[in-house]
Amino acid sequence: MAQETTSAADPDAKLAIRNIGLLLSGDIGRPILEADTIVAVGGRITAIGRGSEIDAEGAATVIDAHGCGLAPGLIDSHVHPVAGDWTPRQSQLNWIDSTLHGGVTTMISAGEVHTPGRPRDVVGLKAMAIFAQRAFTAFRPGGMKIHAGAPVIEPEMEEHDFKELADAGVRLLGEVGLGGVKDGPTARRMVAWARKYGIQSTIHTGGPSIPGSGLIDSAVVLEADTDVVGHVNGGHTALPDREIRCICEGCQRGLELVHNGNERAALYTMRMARDMGQLERVILGTDGPAGSGVQPLGILRMIAMLSSLGDVPAEVAFCFGTGNTARTRGLDTGLIEVGRAADFVLLDRAQHSAGRDLLECVQLGDLPGVGMVVIDGTPRIGRSRNTPPADKVPEVLA
Ligand SMILES: [Zn+2]
Repeated sequence: MAQETTSAADPDAKLAIRNIGLLLSGDIGRPILEADTIVAVGGRITAIGRGSEIDAEGAATVIDAHGCGLAPGLIDSHVHPVAGDWTPRQSQLNWIDSTLHGGVTTMISAGEVHTPGRPRDVVGLKAMAIFAQRAFTAFRPGGMKIHAGAPVIEPEMEEHDFKELADAGVRLLGEVGLGGVKDGPTARRMVAWARKYGIQSTIHTGGPSIPGSGLIDSAVVLEADTDVVGHVNGGHTALPDREIRCICEGCQRGLELVHNGNERAALYTMRMARDMGQLERVILGTDGPAGSGVQPLGILRMIAMLSSLGDVPAEVAFCFGTGNTARTRGLDTGLIEVGRAADFVLLDRAQHSAGRDLLECVQLGDLPGVGMVVIDGTPRIGRSRNTPPADKVPEVLA
């Protein structure tokens, strides 16, 4: 199993990727860049442009894209990791490594809620969050960046608990509503404490996902005022359209659409955001592992679904799963910009797709073929074992 601990990228290691056929930026304001070459040093992008204008001299690693497309590494805004690369949901091993083969380079925990025997007392839940934050920082299957350690709030928590969590390195709250706090006023108070100490928050929107969890409706979502409206298309059961509209219009927070949610409600939300001129609020997650299973290609499937059924240009749909999430979450990846992390997915039209090129393939609802994934300037995998084979496949030359 591919696995490694965190190591700082060699500060001098230089990577050059040339002959990129289509450069997707992740920036919804300008989703396609007129460039065919990227250079990164020490795991950060240092130059983007035309090959003739760019100094790729001395690159230790040179990738010839052979005309395939390149996008920022995909970000899954909503996962439920437990321990290592194992999940007790569906008793599955290596789901994180498999997700890397779906072009995802960063995942964000919405709570380690499937942990067997998960503690609900305040000391126990804090300890588990700190443990998960540490463990998933050190454990990176294939180099995957896993932001975990997301405690699920309980009514007994006080302000000092949030300060202690923040001081210990915790930066996320798990989905509000999966624990004992299900009412607007308590959620709002605790979310504000979290924000005060630099901890981001999300909420479980919609009906209960599993027996034991509860309904979180639009009134609670708006009162809680979390940074992200977690699965606004429902864990499985979405709110009525009028309540989704209420959330879209009633706040400016991120609108997260998940693979394991209601697809009709996802399309409704996306269209509402488009009508409001606020597509930059749309971000993507899988909400896996879950009762619906584990989806290594979940983010690609969401991009293809929203593009094909929602009539969104594919290059825009890619922004939902990259730059939009990075900006909403304050991550240094997800955009092809100088200074950002050199996290990329190289991909192309799937062989035998009815679409003539990468963008048309996705707009017709087909999944593209992933040919390579790069994290922190280092190639991690070649041709994906999970996607269909691509037309054009990149190659590491040196
Ligand atoms: Zn949920």
